[in-house]
Amino acid sequence: MKLWHTREDLQGLEEIRRSGPLVLVPTMGALHEGHLDLVRLGSELGQVLVTVFVNPTQFGPKEDFGSYPRTLERDLELLSKLPVAGVFAPDTSEIYGDNQEVTVQPGHRGQGLCGGDRPGHFAGVLTVVAKLFGLTQPDICIFGRKDAQQCLVIGQMVQDLKMPVQLVDAPTRREDDGLAMSSRNRYLSPEQRRQALCLSRALSTGKQLLMDGCRKRTEILDAMIGVLKEADQLEYAEIRQVPDLGQPEIINGRTLLAVAARVGPARLIDNFVLQVNDNQVSDSYLLGTGRIS
Ligand code: AMP
Repeated sequence: MKLWHTREDLQGLEEIRRSGPLVLVPTMGALHEGHLDLVRLGSELGQVLVTVFVNPTQFGPKEDFGSYPRTLERDLELLSKLPVAGVFAPDTSEIYGDNQEVTVQPGHRGQGLCGGDRPGHFAGVLTVVAKLFGLTQPDICIFGRKDAQQCLVIGQMVQDLKMPVQLVDAPTRREDDGLAMSSRNRYLSPEQRRQALCLSRALSTGKQLLMDGCRKRTEILDAMIGVLKEADQLEYAEIRQVPDLGQPEIINGRTLLAVAARVGPARLIDNFVLQVNDNQVSDSYLLGTGRIS
């Protein structure tokens, strides 16, 4: 496994590319099994390049950029046990050092949900992803369904800007009790860790109502919000259509149930992607090439 820090180092990618399609797995480090699942999926598709970069431009001024966990040594140890061809872990100056005037702005998919009260968040995400695509020119790039809106916003960028990369969304990896894995779970005390389970429970409550035949958005949301009262602060609970993120009153077709809440010091998000038909509800994907489970 090669470790690269500079843009010049990336010349080494040419050799890797000779052995198969280049599969990019972008991360901010502090890796957990969810990230490692993306790597495992990537290794089925080609030669995996993992990037570890805490991107300053996607954090708001009151967010945890300064305290975000940076655990590169441990990350490298975890990755060295998997089929990873290379790791690119640049400094901020390597990515943002030159004068920068052009950024990538999201379209309507960036509005609301995680874009609502975080102005500039998705522009920060899109700009860094576009830079990583430019630097590494991957054939395939894998994102986690855990960040559902991010997947859809990036999908729109790739489509609209005609970027020659195939996107794949990977299922959300959970702890045994249902908590979605997140680098931010380490901020939680044991009590807060129990409280945090209300996010996945709210989603299960919404899914159960759909399975029981309810199709009314407001009814399902009310039930989900009831469960989320256990969080310290609800940020949002939403039901959106996939992939355009429209807000239907009657649920039908590919559907995103998405929640965000504060528990103690952590802002946590979670979602279910479901295919809702007249009398059937099943798990689904976000992007055309996504894996369901
Ligand atoms: P992050 O380091 O949080 O920016 O995440 C890097 C990638 O890992 C993103 O594509 C995330 O959606 C994905 N990811 C984060 N948590 C999970 C999880 N629990 N299961 C699957 N993928 C995840």
